Amino acid sequence: MEPKSSSFQNILAERLDGLRRNGLYRELRRVESPQGRRITIAGTNYLNFSSNDYLGLSTAPELADAAREAIGRFGAGAGASRLICGSLSPYHELEETLARFKGTESALYFSTGYAAAVGTICALVGSDDVIVIDRLVHASIVDAARLSGAKLRVFAHNDLEDLEKMLRWAGERNTNPQHPSRTLIVTESIFSMDGDQAPLRAIVELKDRYGAWLMVDEAHATGVLGKRHCGLAEEQGVADRIEIQMGTLGKAVGASGGYICGAQVLVDYLVNRARSFVFSTAPVPAAAAAATAGLRLIQSEAGEKRCAQLWQRVEQLLQGVAALQGRSAALQATSAIIPLIIGPEVTAMEVAGALRRRGIYIPAIRYPTVARGEARLRITLTAAHTQADVEELLAALNSVFKNLQNGFSRA
Ligand SMILES: *Cc1c(COP(=O)(O)O)cnc(C)c1O
Repeated sequence: MEPKSSSFQNILAERLDGLRRNGLYRELRRVESPQGRRITIAGTNYLNFSSNDYLGLSTAPELADAAREAIGRFGAGAGASRLICGSLSPYHELEETLARFKGTESALYFSTGYAAAVGTICALVGSDDVIVIDRLVHASIVDAARLSGAKLRVFAHNDLEDLEKMLRWAGERNTNPQHPSRTLIVTESIFSMDGDQAPLRAIVELKDRYGAWLMVDEAHATGVLGKRHCGLAEEQGVADRIEIQMGTLGKAVGASGGYICGAQVLVDYLVNRARSFVFSTAPVPAAAAAATAGLRLIQSEAGEKRCAQLWQRVEQLLQGVAALQGRSAALQATSAIIPLIIGPEVTAMEVAGALRRRGIYIPAIRYPTVARGEARLRITLTAAHTQADVEELLAALNSVFKNLQNGFSRA
C-alpha cells in the first residue's frame, strides 16, 4: 500500500495537472531587484508593466527613510494585536493622516486590504441582512460577503437597473420591525482587472433612496484620481455620502496595509467587532510609517508631478493601442489599468511569454481572477515609466499581435 503522504501528494499533483492542462497553472517568479519600472528575474532584466505601484512610491527614498526611522525607534515587530499590548504611535499617526487626507472623522489601519474587507463586511452584516455586490468586485469582497452569512445578491457590472431591482427586493422582504434587515452595497470605484469606473454618484442616489449602506473600495483610485488624489468618490463629489470608504496602502501609496475611513462611530465599532483587526498581530510599525510618508508625498508638489506623469503615460499608451487596432480615437483614460482582452487562457499565456522574450513583463490574468474565456494582458502604468518605455511596449505589442491572428481588443 502507498504511504498516506504520497497519496495526499498524488491527489494534489493531479489537481495541479488539471490546472496546467487548462492554462490555469500559476507559479512564483523570483525577482532579484526592487519593484521598479525594470525588474530582474533569473538574471534577465524586464521592462515591468505589472505593478500597482502607480506613483512609483514603493521605491521612493522618502518611504524607505520613514520605514528605517520607525525600525530604529520601535524595532521590527509589533508584539501582538493593538488591543492586547497597546497601540504604537505610528499606527495613530497613519490613521490621523488618512482621515485628514480623506476628509473623514476617523480611519482604521488593517494589515492588508483583504483583511479590511473581510473584517469590516463581516462586522457590519450577518444572517438577517442582505449584501449586494457588483459582479466584478475583488475576491476579498466576495469572500467577505460569503463569510458574513448575509443573503448575497450580485448585480450585473455597473448595471444600475439590476442594482435597483435587488434593493427593491431587499426592501420588500424587510417587514419585521423586530428584526430589521440591513442592506449593504459594495462596489469598487476603479475595477481592478478592467480599469473602468463605477457610476458612484448614481449608486449613492440609489442607496439613499432605498436606505441601504454603501461601501466603496478605492484600491486602484486612491492616490490617482480626484483633485486631491483621494479617489473617485472625491472626483464625483460623493465622498461624504459614502458610509464606508475602503482601500489599500499597498498600491499607489507605495507601502502595505488596508484602511477603512468614515465616521468615528464606525471606527469604534470596527475596533470592537472586526475580527481580522481584533485577532491579528498589528502590522510592523515600519509599514505604517512608510504608508504615512506615502500619503504625505501624494499630497505634496512631488506627488502632484508624479500623478501628472502617470496620466501622460496612460494617454500615450491608449493612443498607441488605438493606432495598433486601427481606430482613429483613443479610449477615454479612466485609470492606470489597461487590459488587452485575449480570451482563451492558453493564448493569453502564449502572448505573455512572447512579450517576455522581448523583454516586457506583463501578467496574463486568468480564471479565477477573471471569468473563464476572458483571459487578458493587464497592463499597468506607473509614474516611473518614461515615454520611451511606453514606445518600447507598443513596438513589442505590435510585433507580438501581428503574429497572433485573433488580434485583440480592449474591454
Ligand atoms: C488589491 C486589492 C485589494 C486587497 O488589498 P491588499 O492590501 O493587497 O490586501 C482589495 N480590493 C481591491 C479592488 C484590490 O485590487
